[in-house]
Amino acid sequence: MSDDILGRVPAYLRQMPGYEPIEPIDVLARELGIPEEQIAKLDGNENPYGPSPKVMEALCGFRYYHIYSDPDQRQVREAIGKHLGLSPAHIVAGSGADELLDIIGRMFIASGTAVIASPPTFGMYAFIAHLYGGVFTPVSRQEDFSLDAAAIKSAASGDGLVFLASPNNPTGNPVSRGELDRLLATGAVIVIDEAYVEFGGESFVSLVPQYDNLIVLRTFSKWAGLAGLRAGYGVFPAPLADLARKIKMPYNLNQAAQVAVLASLDDVATLQQRVDLIVAERQRLFERLAAVPWLRPWPSQGNFLLCEVREVEAKAVWQRLRERGIFVRYFETPQLSHCLRFTVGKPEHSHRLLTALAEIGASIGR
Ligand code: PMP
Repeated sequence: MSDDILGRVPAYLRQMPGYEPIEPIDVLARELGIPEEQIAKLDGNENPYGPSPKVMEALCGFRYYHIYSDPDQRQVREAIGKHLGLSPAHIVAGSGADELLDIIGRMFIASGTAVIASPPTFGMYAFIAHLYGGVFTPVSRQEDFSLDAAAIKSAASGDGLVFLASPNNPTGNPVSRGELDRLLATGAVIVIDEAYVEFGGESFVSLVPQYDNLIVLRTFSKWAGLAGLRAGYGVFPAPLADLARKIKMPYNLNQAAQVAVLASLDDVATLQQRVDLIVAERQRLFERLAAVPWLRPWPSQGNFLLCEVREVEAKAVWQRLRERGIFVRYFETPQLSHCLRFTVGKPEHSHRLLTALAEIGASIGR
């Protein structure tokens, strides 16, 4: 193999930082030498209740896995449109909200395009900016994690692309209608990522038909428990939706994901009950964490709680939880330090987490 084969890849791709993914459960189990069932996986904001039983049934009964899926996603777009009360003309589905971010990148990012996001936030926005040769332009949040709308406004000025998660991962706070209105007025393309909106915060999906620069992303990964099947969608102004469907890979929503989406939308009541359980558990866990003297949880509208760790190294806590089979997310970035993020699981997950935290606290004399 020639030595300079990598040299043929454009430098901006060779040099881009990769996305830092979380480890799958089998890898974690092997690493610790414990069975998968003993792992409390609280690091990926997944839904511990899994898919609706109707999804399992529909996947087993489906007879057309040997046939390509519908490139126009007609059934799925119809069903999502009904779910949202919007015309299917606005909708484009894909392999998770991540794929919609990629499609938006293809549409709007060229070499040098300013791609604005407000860290601490979801790492995919920077990844997509780099992938398409854009200039990632972070506009830091304020002390309380609220947006610096004025700074975003000046960074976006006209032809920028702005990614904002609402509720935001990992801070848990939503974008307000007032903030959104100010940003839309800049004329920049504003992408509101509502991956967690079923757990709290206001949805802006119904505003999409009124603006030509607002895109809203949603996913089935969180509320519907389909993270591993990969199904998400974007709600676009109709002309942009047409273009997005034209430039996406033809069969990007595979048959299994399509079947799972339809069955989930047929069982919203069951899935909503589970969302309600997670929201109730979030409140309970928040109160228990707030009672730990060396922890400071932030209020959250998502299915996770960000927690500042005081007096102890957050990384040491992360490590000691890992040793007990409890996997959480550790953050040490310029905008976020001494923090852990706990996905809200079932009550038994919270129990394990709180027991382990109490043990760790006792070992440091707290
Ligand atoms: N947006 C945010 C804010 C997220 O946190 C995540 C998942 N961690 C996603 C999008 C990706 O969702 P999906 O699984 O639909 O690709």
